[in-house]
Amino acid sequence: MEKLGLVRDIDLALHLPLRYEDETRVTPIAAAHEGETVQVEGRVRDSRVELRPRRQLIVRLADDSDELVLRFLHFYPSHQKTLAVGARLRVRGELRGGFLGREMVHPSFKAVNDDTPLATALTPVYPASAQLPQAYLRKAVSSALTRAPLDELLPPGSVPAGLPSLKQALLFLHHPAPEVMLATLEDHSHPAWQRLKFDELLAQQLSQLQAQRERAALRAPPLRAGAGGLHEQLLAALPFRLTGAQHRVTEEIARDLARPHPTHRLLQGDVGSGKTVVAALAATVAIDAGWQCALMAPTEILAEQHFRKLVGWLEPLGVPIAWLTGSQKGKARTRMLERVASGEARLVVGTHAVIQDRVVFERLGLAVIDEQHRFGVAQRLQLKRKLEGTPLEPHLLMMSATPIPRTLAMTYYADLDVSTLDELPPGRTPIVTKVFADGRRDSVIARIRDEVAKGRQVYWVCPLIEESETLDLQNATETHARLGEALPGVQVGLLHGRMPAAEKAAVMARFTGGELAVLVSTTVIEVGVDVPNASLMVIEHAERFGLSQLHQLRGRVGRGSVASVCVLLYTPPLSDTGKARLRAMAETNDGFEIARRDLDIRGPGEFMGARQSGAALLRFADLAEDSALLAQARQLAPQLLEHHPRAADAHVNRWLGSKAEYLKA
Ligand code: ADP
Ligand code: MG
Repeated sequence: MEKLGLVRDIDLALHLPLRYEDETRVTPIAAAHEGETVQVEGRVRDSRVELRPRRQLIVRLADDSDELVLRFLHFYPSHQKTLAVGARLRVRGELRGGFLGREMVHPSFKAVNDDTPLATALTPVYPASAQLPQAYLRKAVSSALTRAPLDELLPPGSVPAGLPSLKQALLFLHHPAPEVMLATLEDHSHPAWQRLKFDELLAQQLSQLQAQRERAALRAPPLRAGAGGLHEQLLAALPFRLTGAQHRVTEEIARDLARPHPTHRLLQGDVGSGKTVVAALAATVAIDAGWQCALMAPTEILAEQHFRKLVGWLEPLGVPIAWLTGSQKGKARTRMLERVASGEARLVVGTHAVIQDRVVFERLGLAVIDEQHRFGVAQRLQLKRKLEGTPLEPHLLMMSATPIPRTLAMTYYADLDVSTLDELPPGRTPIVTKVFADGRRDSVIARIRDEVAKGRQVYWVCPLIEESETLDLQNATETHARLGEALPGVQVGLLHGRMPAAEKAAVMARFTGGELAVLVSTTVIEVGVDVPNASLMVIEHAERFGLSQLHQLRGRVGRGSVASVCVLLYTPPLSDTGKARLRAMAETNDGFEIARRDLDIRGPGEFMGARQSGAALLRFADLAEDSALLAQARQLAPQLLEHHPRAADAHVNRWLGSKAEYLKA
């Protein structure tokens, strides 16, 4: 039960049936139709084990109207005893036309006598697990329902008109009367369902508002760039002019950082929109103000690339930068940790190793998380604790190339300020995307030859094989060998997740330096890698990738002024969602549009990634379907918090319990 999150009585009360079984009626056998699931009652006429065509228990059950066969392919002696000749049984199952006449295979059954009462309500069928039988769960839910505190918490008049109380709604949904329209239960349009969804959305809105208020009560060091300081120096030294969008968001971030409350801002911008320089500029504000800045990336390759870029920009200005990753060992690591702790290092770049408990900052003022969707909530919480022992929290800037669709932003990220880079740096030629069946591999290889002859570079991304890292590797190794053969005289490199970090870095450096013309890789290059001379991206088995991942991968090309192509190779036949994804890729380069379609194809639960939240955040409500209820919940939440703070607390606790912390991170 704990695994299913069923701990408190209220958790059980909120564990709603998937569907119902009607055990309130007994149908005469003669009146039951084939294909129908019915309950019948009768006496066992005959019960025998037959061995052909395989061992099975065959039971003949008769009522006044007719008879039918009950067939069991798996059975125990105890079953035989209950199903013995003369027994009176109530049986429920799907009626089928079988070899032996009308039959039910593995029906549920129980022995009854003349006065065994029929159920008066529909029987709930709960989401369960193999180790947790329905019968047990039904009892547990029923008894929890009598104990759970289900009193109305919301003041009169605040619940949308026509909806029942939560208690009425739950009692009804667990044990609905037999005459209810099952369809309204199944499509969740019944008022009882509406009440649940409303309460859930309200809890969610309240917790976001509470988080906002709590944050406003928190303190952070106000960070301001001084005149003539690093910030201005970096702006002057950059080899390019900022785009209008970069200017705007840089100012938005600077305004945040100057406040004495922790920034909680998401910088979203399509791949290639130039988020790194915005992060560097934010870092200079923190450093100017005398604080340290940490920049984290989800992979070592990406972190290293940031490191190089930042070293290139900031070391000439005299900023000491430290480098921290998990693969660092011994003295090198100790030395880095010392530089961070003493405050000598003003900027610390690395992987999640940057926030491990052992890393102590002298005074961390700003943390920047790149590709934030790849970091877990727990890691973000850990980061917030880096100024422990002081009344302060660091400012937090998150960056993502996967924009959050508006409805999700409103619901899940109400406590997040969002800046958007909606403009690409000038001089980019849009990427052309082509979708080819795998059979056209040879023409793709010819294309590679052409690009390389022009001095360009090529990525070849190998398929993701979910079940097996070993297969992944084997596949990448084979592709590497085959491409090497097919492209004599061309330097083809191989990069995969199993390589030691140093080796990965070496291969990446050879590719970045132009020594390797083609890079065969597993998805380790997925995020952020920046090689402007790369003009062709081939993704093998593109149908196995998610839409946002494809978009990220494609974003590895088209980073300079050369016209770039992305080839999506697929192996037919394509599933409907596979088709929809590849079509979306071919039709648009716009990351926001891609995210919108992704949401359409996958739904918000998956979009958020269960990995991140630990559980789907909304169990009952559906953002697309329940927008009217969402609007009502959004309207009520601030009023409730203002005028009935205790009721608001109780409501959040009822619904979110221990999950509330997660929602705030
Ligand atoms: P992303 O938003 O995907 O992280 P990057 O920060 O890696 O993008 O930037 C992509 C490329 O564009 C880099 O080579 C970067 O140096 C370059 N770039 C960033 N801003 C500008 C600009 N304003 N003008 C020209 N090039 C820029
Ligand atoms: Mg990036």
